[in-house]
Amino acid sequence: MGMQSNLPNIPTTTSNTSEVKQAVTKATTDVASEMQPEKTVVDKLPPKPDYPRYRVRPEHPIILAALDPNECEGYEKKKHVEEELEYQRQRIQNLQERLYAEHQRSLLIVLQAMDTGGKDGTIKHVFGGLNPQGCQVWSFKKPSEDESSHDFLWRYHQRAPQRGMISIFNRSHYEDVLVVRVKELVPKEVWQERYHLINEFEHMLTLNNIRVIKFFLHISKDEQKRRLESRLEDPTKHWKFSSNDIKERKYWDDYQTAFEDAINNCSTAYAPWYVVPANKKWYRNLVVARTIADTLESMNPQFPPAEVGLESIVID
Ligand code: AMP
Ligand code: MG
Repeated sequence: MGMQSNLPNIPTTTSNTSEVKQAVTKATTDVASEMQPEKTVVDKLPPKPDYPRYRVRPEHPIILAALDPNECEGYEKKKHVEEELEYQRQRIQNLQERLYAEHQRSLLIVLQAMDTGGKDGTIKHVFGGLNPQGCQVWSFKKPSEDESSHDFLWRYHQRAPQRGMISIFNRSHYEDVLVVRVKELVPKEVWQERYHLINEFEHMLTLNNIRVIKFFLHISKDEQKRRLESRLEDPTKHWKFSSNDIKERKYWDDYQTAFEDAINNCSTAYAPWYVVPANKKWYRNLVVARTIADTLESMNPQFPPAEVGLESIVID
């Protein structure tokens, strides 16, 4: 089997617990270093855009109100970053092909934001060029009756990426500590436990060769107002308008608190959260694209070895 060296080598017997624990720790640490791609793939630090500054370090809690959603690092206009965005998209496409061919590991990208925060736009502009065979987008809505009769992670786990694939979660298991918390859909004792359960879930995915990376697209309340207004004004955006968004907007502060807790409790070294300034859509796209390109490069997916003896084959 060509690519076994990429797989964590965790002993299968429980007879030697400390050996198992050590192997798990090593596998987790190895992934954690891949998830800090600037350490391996960037020659001049900081990279531009400087995405590592947006990664939330475990034990270093963030305060959303202190992070500027307008930040764009001196980039001025969309047209100035178009070429750079295209370059990052190309990198993602090339690396996706390798990941798909390698057929050993996969990448789960979680996108979360306030309503109008730009999840759909990010999917369109960053992932638009990916080979559809190697990529799936899952959008999670209010759970169905069937879904809510299972444990809360069940519907998400089913959609975790197969080997070689990139999956994008447009909303995710985090909704179960966001809308569920804010709208009091379950008691506090229930959602409080979930941060820990989410970390365990993501750790399990990690040890099964699924890399997990999470983006919070950070917009301001004013920017949400502008975006809702433009959905009202522009007939081609009417379909995006939901009067429910107006109701949810009243809970802005509660949502910000819930996001802060989710991000602070669940940004781990192996499955980091990034808080991306997202008032400027083009800067948001550039940051997400660069972060994913570098993370994929740091995973270093390899084409599998060719069959032996290809050089002597003659096609008649
Ligand atoms: P949209 O993404 O605009 O189509 O909206 C999807 C809706 O589904 C949002 O209002 C979410 O809050 C809601 N939703 C997503 N996941 C859950 C969940 N686990 N529990 C309750 N509501 C959810
Ligand atoms: Mg919506």
